[in-house]
Formats: sequence, structure tokens, C-alpha cells
Amino acid sequence: MSQNAPTLRDLEHHDAFVARHIGPNDAEMAQMLEVIGYDSLDAMTDAIVPGAIKSQQPMALTGAVTEEEALARIRAMADRNQVFRSFIGQGYYGTHVPAVIARNILENPAWYTAYTPYQAEISQGRMEALLNFQTMVADLTGMEIANASLLDEATAAAEAMTLAKRSSKSKSNLFYVADTVHPQTLEVLRTRAESLDIDLQVGPIEKAIDADSYGVLVQYPDTFGRIGDHAALAEAVHARKGVVAVATDLLALTLIASPGSWGADIVIGNSQRFGVPFGFGGPHAAWLACRDAYKRSMPGRLIGISVDAEGKLAYRLTLQTREQHIRREKATSNICTAQVLLAVMAGMYAVYHGPEGLTRIARRTHRLAAILAGALRSAGVEVGKDFFDTLYVSGVDAEAVLAKAREQHINLRGIDGGHIGISLDETSTREDVKALAALFGARIDDIDTLDASTDDALPPQAQRQDAFLTHPVFNTHHSETELLRYMRTLADKDLALDRSMIPLGSCTMKLNATAEMLPITWPEFANIHPLAPAEQTLGYKQLIDELEAMLVQCTGYDSISMQPNSGAQGEYAGLLAIAAYHRSRGEGHRHICLIPESAHGTNPASAQMCGMKVVVTKCDANGNVDLDDIREKAAKHANDLAAIMLTYPSTHGVFEEDVVAICETIHQHGGQVYTDGANMNALVGIAQPGKWGSDVSHLNLHKTFCIPHGGGGPGVGPCAVKSHLAPFLPRTLGGEGEVGMVSAASYGSASILPISWMYIAMMGPVGLRKASQAALLNANYVSKRLAPYYKTLYTGRNGLVAHECILDLRPLEKSTGISSEDVAKRLIDFGFHAPTLSFPVAGTLMVEPTESESLYELDRFCDAMIQIHEEITAIADGKADGEDNPLKHAPHTATMVMAAEWTHGYSREQAAFPLPVLKTHKYWPPVARVDNVYGDKNVMCSCAPIEAYMDEDA
Ligand SMILES: *Cc1c(COP(=O)(O)O)cnc(C)c1O
Repeated sequence: MSQNAPTLRDLEHHDAFVARHIGPNDAEMAQMLEVIGYDSLDAMTDAIVPGAIKSQQPMALTGAVTEEEALARIRAMADRNQVFRSFIGQGYYGTHVPAVIARNILENPAWYTAYTPYQAEISQGRMEALLNFQTMVADLTGMEIANASLLDEATAAAEAMTLAKRSSKSKSNLFYVADTVHPQTLEVLRTRAESLDIDLQVGPIEKAIDADSYGVLVQYPDTFGRIGDHAALAEAVHARKGVVAVATDLLALTLIASPGSWGADIVIGNSQRFGVPFGFGGPHAAWLACRDAYKRSMPGRLIGISVDAEGKLAYRLTLQTREQHIRREKATSNICTAQVLLAVMAGMYAVYHGPEGLTRIARRTHRLAAILAGALRSAGVEVGKDFFDTLYVSGVDAEAVLAKAREQHINLRGIDGGHIGISLDETSTREDVKALAALFGARIDDIDTLDASTDDALPPQAQRQDAFLTHPVFNTHHSETELLRYMRTLADKDLALDRSMIPLGSCTMKLNATAEMLPITWPEFANIHPLAPAEQTLGYKQLIDELEAMLVQCTGYDSISMQPNSGAQGEYAGLLAIAAYHRSRGEGHRHICLIPESAHGTNPASAQMCGMKVVVTKCDANGNVDLDDIREKAAKHANDLAAIMLTYPSTHGVFEEDVVAICETIHQHGGQVYTDGANMNALVGIAQPGKWGSDVSHLNLHKTFCIPHGGGGPGVGPCAVKSHLAPFLPRTLGGEGEVGMVSAASYGSASILPISWMYIAMMGPVGLRKASQAALLNANYVSKRLAPYYKTLYTGRNGLVAHECILDLRPLEKSTGISSEDVAKRLIDFGFHAPTLSFPVAGTLMVEPTESESLYELDRFCDAMIQIHEEITAIADGKADGEDNPLKHAPHTATMVMAAEWTHGYSREQAAFPLPVLKTHKYWPPVARVDNVYGDKNVMCSCAPIEAYMDEDA
């Protein structure tokens, strides 16, 4: 070996991924450090982070491994999961994910790296896809309006319970739930009802008619498969001014009468079986549909139709958009991140199959079930009647049958020790039916003969009579070529991370590396039913245990629950743990939750859901939480203090010095400290909340730990606690524990956990710390470069910010009338998604570049912001008109710029190509500025009648 040649060890390059994940290379970092005035990342970090909280030791994690090694290790874990044929049902059914949808949506960064569609003009594609989903749900359920989307069926049921409470004119506080809803739905309802002081009664459906309840929930078909007739019940509930909520199954509704047709007021369910794999419980998109009269009280996101500045049809988030930020503890729910990517998939499944295709799938599933029932009955086995896809089998030795099934790699549902549930689905085959029959000693020689001689099992009065999915979108794109182009057309309308930086503060839109994404579609992770026996899911157990250990290192806490399927659900779980802890010490009366005014809106909304009373604390002129105010309020409420919810570093983008003192104060007064972990991206490897005095945090794996945002979900919001709160983490289905479930599945959205595991494995402890430092560096670089043009509103020690900076546009607005929203819209002309608009301070833009953005991209963004500043200055100087300028008219569509007539006081070139680089790389927004007021006044939330599109062409 020659003397200076690299050694084998040098060449192995184990941290190669780190350099790919972090945008700027070392030379660029040095250059950027010079701009902000430090000579190393560590010196900069020391200048930003208060000494009292800094970790003294590196995280005890294994060193970085390459993409290939990480994939090999997770492959070995996947191989420990066993994929059996599943007939368990109970809310989760086999489905074929159409390959064209799997590859072009689920595996396509144009879809999975998008953000929630707050900026309507750059989100038209995914909003059209979501409108399809809403139309599909409204049509099938027979309801007037449906949202997109909720987290899972069980939480959707809980939302229905509270929506019913808000909407019912009954004085009762009782919500009656039929005991034939899915067990996980019951669990989540119990958890939710308890903290909201709703009297929940679970009992036989026959008793529902006499219960003096404000609402009733029934499942149709029920968890055991039976299709009941609930019309008389609905009438009785309405007579007592109550609300009828129904949990249902979209595929069944292609054949059976819609709940809307027999009196339902609210209908909820899941869309998993429309082309979304089991994933050991999630993620899948649930939904809620209801009467039009309830629309202003609906939880979750709702896409609606509005018009743009040119009078053309355009989509936007309607009504309760960002409602937590506006209504805080009065918000209808805490749902922020939902399940957009999965809703897009399910809606596209309906576009792909159309009404005939869906009906064919449903009828085939039903015929297989009917044939199996016929075969079982002829062998003397007792089978329930009036079913769609699920057989309720009695009078057999259930344990023996289940064991025999498992020997053949078949999973059935065991019910109460003595019964068996068998759910058939789209993936069931003739061979399956034969094998299933054989398990009960029934023999099928010729399925077709049996088919001819077996009647349907759908009760005649329950047959669906009306048409559904008649809109052209569900009847046009049935060839794969057409569908592929339709999906591509929609994706092309949107700006996602695959095109440009998304500098949204508090959202951490960082790289979602392809290697991280690969494992989630492996069958060993995707095709596992959440209730598969534990011995078949050892790989998942290992994954969850290892990820928990990794996150313990990142946070300094002791125990973690993966169950919450969004950040807000993690907050809810954390606060439930705090409440239960107080109760366990005989201090259940503690109910005051201090929340600084700068907090994210989900904080007060979650506190309210736990039955806590929110007391708002002030922030000082420097943007810090006001320690004196906290001391005063903690002391004043000392007898009733439950908790404080702090975001750290703060939503104002600074590392506050007082955090340790705040923890001490709260503890002195008997309260617990909840740290909102959404900003962990500034902390990993630098400081651990669990070590500086915080008791509990949620993490946003879909921010700091690389799960893509999916256009508004999925997410994972693990709840991390110190050991004294560990007994109060949510229990698993059928498991032990003081606190009930917060999600339908024991491990929430388990199938996307490999993404975070891969990230941590490939970064290692050194890489993770460097990523946090690069996030700090990038934010400070942007803040410094833009300082001559836009003031950063708040800074911490040494005039530095944390991982995000708030640009104050209020002085410019005052002098020119140009608002932060105008700037946000003008950025679209430059090809950028706007930073966070008017949160946490109205009239500002909050920029969080993340570590993944390169110096090139940061400069491109700064150049755009500087050019915009020049345009604003022209107005201030009287060189440009206050109304007729490129900011007020932004964004500019191709139609606007290319119109025969151009009447503006600025050029077409300035409108569309304000910087030369745009001539080689231009994003054209599909619509002009969307009219928000029109959309809220004229709420329209399903696909527009086709004439609306024709008008557009006219
Ligand atoms: C994103 C965020 C949340 C909510 O997380 P979701 O997953 O959207 O529910 C809560 N707090 C802060 C500070 C956040 O940035």
C-alpha cells in the first residue's frame, strides 16, 4: 500500500448517507459559518444553546451504517414477520393495491413529499384528489358532505360522538353505543368519553331505542358481519331530538342501502380496503360524513370549491382550515395532520375501478362469503345470516379450528372463546374458500355448482337502489394509460419537496430519503393484519422495540408509546398520562393547564379534549415565554395545577434560557411539564428534554424523523415519558393499563415506522447531531442573509435563532399595504412554497429550511425574497402602484401572462420571470389567487357538476 493512500477503513465510508441527507457540504458550511461569524459548528452551537440543557454525553446509539447495510438489517427484521392469509376482518380487510397507484402515488415523491394544502394555488392537484375522496364517501354513505380525512375508524367514531353532542338539541349527556361495534372503536370511545365527562353506555342494539341518549352509534354491517335494519331506531332517536351515528364499510355500501337513505345523521368509517395495505394497523384514511346542517361543526379537513381571481373554479381548504390556531381550546377537534396520502390512494382506487368495478369486487366478495356459508351449513355448522362479507360461526370447537387454520397459514378471528369470524375480501380466492370450508370439515367439490345453488345473504329490504359515483371522474380513467396521465396531471399542478424547498416553519420539511421509504411496501411490513397473533409479528416487535430505544436516546425519556398517529394525538396521550398520574396520587382534581400564547393551536385543543382548563400565559417583548407570568399563574393555581405545555425551542424560534427554571416552578406547584416535541429537529444530539426536567413529550416522526408529510398525513406522534408516567401510557388492544387506547391500532401507524428506524440507523449519533447543527446553521444563514431586507422578529443568545426564524413583514405592510400573504403568493411566481404564514405571529413569515437544503437552494430562496423586497421598495418609492403590482396580483398563471391583452403597470416578463433562472426552470401555478371568502360563503365539497368545468372553458 502506498503511504498516503486511504486505508480500507477510510474507503468504507459508513457515514456516506449523512453527507447526502445534509444539504451543505463541509466547505459550504465553513462559508456559511463565516457569514454568521463562527468558526465551527460547535462554536455556533455553544453560542445558541443554553449551557444548562446541553447534553454532556453523546447518544448511545450504534454508529452510522450505509443504505445497503441498513436495508439488510431491516430486511432481516421484516423476515421475522410471517404473512398469513388473513380472514380476521374487524375493520381491516385484504385489498389489492393497484400497481399503478402503488408506484405512482404511494411511492411517488410528488405525492408523498407535499405539505398540507394551506397554500391553495400550489395544491390544486391533491385537493382535486381529495375532493374525489369526499365525493366517493358522500355518494356511498348517502350523506350530503364528507371530510378528508380522519386518523382511523375508532377516532372517527369518537369525533362522531362529540359532533353529535355539539349538534343535538337533546339535553341528555348519554351516548349509547351498540355492543356490536368493533372492539377497538369501543376502546377509543371509552377513553374519549371519560375525559370529556360524556356518559357512555354500551349495550345491546335493541335497548338503544329506549335509552334517553343524545346520540346513538351503530355499526352497519356490525362487527360480526350482520346487516341490521335500523330505520325504526333512527326514527325513535330523531323523535327524542337525538343524533344517529353509523359506522359502516364503503365496499358493503355498493350493495346495501346507504345509511343516509334510512336516517343516519353522521356516518363514519375507514377506507383501508380501497387499495391501502393492512400495515399492521395503519396508516389508513378514515372519514366522517354528515348532514349539511352540521358542516360548520365538522372535525378534520374539508376541501371545497371556490373561485380564483380570474373567476375560474379552484379548490381550497374550507371552513375549519387551521381552526385550532384560530379557535384554540374551542376548536371542534385537535386534528391537524390527518391521512391525506392514504385518502388520495383510496379515492384513486375508486377512480380506477369506477362504480361498476367496485360493485363487481363487492359482489364477488359477497358470493364467496355466501358460498362458504352454504358449504358450512351443509356440513352442519351454524352460520349467521344477513351478511355482506363476514361469517359469524358458532357451535364449533373454536380453539381447535383456529389452531388448525394457523397450521395452514390462515388467520381467523376468534370471538369470545366460542365463536369464529371469517371475513372475505377482494383478495380471497376459490382456493381460499375451499381451504376455509375444509377447516370445518366441509368439502367443496365444485364451486360453480354451489354458486348456482346458493342465494345471496343480503336482506332484501337492505338492497341498495340508488346510483353512486356517477361523476365523470369515476367513469373516465379506467384504462391504465388514462389513469397514469390523470395522476401525473394532478401531481404536476402541485409543488412538493421534489421540486423545491418548502420552508415552512414548525413543519420540518426535510429529506425523505428513498432508502428510508423502500421497506414500507415490503409485504412483510405491508400485509400484516393488526390482530395477527404475536408469534407472527416478531419483526414488528423488534422494529418497535429498537425504535423506542433509539428515540429514548434522542429525547432522554424512559418509555415511549407508538400508538398516537399524529402529533396532536401524541399531545392527547401525554396529557391523559398526566391526568391519570395525578389521579393515582389522589390529586385527580388538578385540571389547570398553562399554555403560552405562542403555542401551536393543537396544544389548547388537546388540553380541552382531556377535560383540562387552559390558562394562557404571556410572552415578553423578546418572544420568550414570560417567566414571571408563569410563576404567578402556577402559584395562583397551585392547588389545581395539572401541567404546562411548552414548545422547545419555542415556536418563536429561540432557545429560551429559562426552561429549567420553568420546569422547577411547575414541579414545585405540583404540576407536570409537557414539552411539545415538534421542534426536536433543533435538539437531537444536542439536548434532551427528558434530562432537563420535562416529564413528557410527543415527537413528530413526520417532522424530525423523516416520515414524509404526504400532503397532510400520515404521521406518527409517539408519546415519550419519564418512568413515573410510564404506567399511564395508552394500553394496547386487550392489554393492561390505566389509560385506554387513543388510536384504533395498538401501534398506530406501524407500517411507516421503518422510515424513522432507517433514518436513525443511517445517520448514527454523530450524523444526527450534525443534522441538528446544520438545521441551526441553515436557519441562521437565511436570517443573516435576509437581515438587510427583513428583520428577524425574535432572536436568542448572541442574536442567533434556533432552527427557524420569523421574518417580520408588518413594517413593510404598514408603509406599502403589501401583506405577508401577498409575499407568500408572490413566492409562487418564483417557484417556492411560502414559509408558514402568520403563525405564531400575525403578519409574519416563519422560515424553517431544515438541514437538508443545500446552500444553492437557500441562496435561491434568499434571492427570491430579496427580489420581492425590491418590488415592495418600488411601491414605497412611488415607482410602482400600490394596487397594480406583481405582489397584489400574484401568483400569475400562464393564461394571465399570455392573455391577448395586458393592462398592468408592470411587464409580463416581471410577472412570470422576476429572476433570470426562472427562464430555464419555471413552475406555472394552475390557478390565480384563490378567493377565500367566496369559498366559505358558498360551501361546496364534492366534485363540481360537469357544467362548472364547461363554464371554465367558455
Ligand atoms: C406540527 C405541530 C403539532 C401537531 O402535529 P400534527 O402531527 O400535525 O398533529 C403540534 N405542535 C407543534 C409545535 C407543531 O409544529
